[in-house]
Amino acid sequence: MSIDTDRFRTLLTEERERVQRALTHLEDEHPGSIEDETDELATAGDNHMSDMASATLDREIDYSLEASSEQHLAEIDAALRRLDDGTYGKCVVGGEDIGEERLEAMPWASLCIDHAREREQRG
Ligand SMILES: [Zn+2]
Repeated sequence: MSIDTDRFRTLLTEERERVQRALTHLEDEHPGSIEDETDELATAGDNHMSDMASATLDREIDYSLEASSEQHLAEIDAALRRLDDGTYGKCVVGGEDIGEERLEAMPWASLCIDHAREREQRG
């Protein structure tokens, strides 16, 4: 397979900067680290999760946005590492080619479409 890794590295670097800027913006609006919030949720216990979520819905949306941005950054970093070690473009589960079309749409993709669907179904 011939993947233009330089091009995908550029795409990933640009995406990383974009997410980083968005995160910085979120943190400016809501000082306090995401780690503190995660601890808070963990100690609250499962039974109270839904009450808490509705009571602090606005806050939750911002934090979940921040959390998903953090997760997205981690995905991008992992993809950049795979570029470095030469495994970029391979499914991390089965080692299949992810496919250039899929990588064009999501350069940070770590799973082939089959394994991605399987993971979604499991929730
Ligand atoms: Zn796979």
